Amino acid sequence: TSFGYKQVPEEQKSKLVGNVFSSVASSYDLMNDLMSVGLHRLWKDRLISKLNPFPGMKHLDVAGGTGDVAFRVLERINSVSHRAMQGTLPYTEEDTQIYVCDINPNMLNVGKKRASERGYKEDNFLSWIQGDAEALSFEDGSMDGYTIAFGIRNVTHIEKALSEAYRVLKRGGRFLCLELSHVDVPLFKEIYDVYSFSVIPAMGELVAGDRQSYQYLVESVRRFPNQEKFAQMIQEAGFARVEYENLVGGVVAIHSGLKL
Ligand code: SAM
Repeated sequence: TSFGYKQVPEEQKSKLVGNVFSSVASSYDLMNDLMSVGLHRLWKDRLISKLNPFPGMKHLDVAGGTGDVAFRVLERINSVSHRAMQGTLPYTEEDTQIYVCDINPNMLNVGKKRASERGYKEDNFLSWIQGDAEALSFEDGSMDGYTIAFGIRNVTHIEKALSEAYRVLKRGGRFLCLELSHVDVPLFKEIYDVYSFSVIPAMGELVAGDRQSYQYLVESVRRFPNQEKFAQMIQEAGFARVEYENLVGGVVAIHSGLKL
């Protein structure tokens, strides 16, 4: 044909495309590590501790991207189910299902690839579903847990995402959200402002070759409702026992709620 790209065999083409996305995903990972000085790993661990995953659970991780949160949930369950096998818990491992939902299929593809590298067999425990946090494809009352990490800030209508979270959870199900939030500690706030408005965009340009996206990131954090306001929104979506925990003085916050 007259189009050069069509001369590339199919499997080679998808490999090329795959490589492009892997390199995007790896600079994304590197940026996360740099921007948070590695702390995002601890923050995600903290999120999982609060979730308290158990064998047999149905869990939905929204904006789950490359599987960072889902792998942690599964690892925690595996360590718990070791005890289950010794007869202390009534669940069987086979019932466990973690659904990773993300609007971007390329992020999901990277996640799938990482899952197989970690030795998770296709569709065993993990399901990768393309979808919008504002209109989930899951049934009412089908999930024991819902997490969203660094995702809700990007959603156009936060209220819609929250009411969808409420809808898909079972009674007794827990909602947990990890998100960049607002620092309200004198002095630290000023330092953090300089860091976010000057250092982060410069780092984005240097490392990812993309100043604008990181500028946008910083601005979107400013626009996101503060801890109290966001807690109120979670309550308005129907959740009970809404609370939040600030980490590093509010650089990030973990909000939680229960569907009773
Ligand atoms: N949760 C991962 C983590 O903590 O590393 C990824 C966070 S990443 C900053 C944000 C993710 O949200 C992206 O993968 C993006 O595709 C996804 N996303 C953005 N808007 C979304 C929406 N409306 N519904 C579902 N996912 C969305």
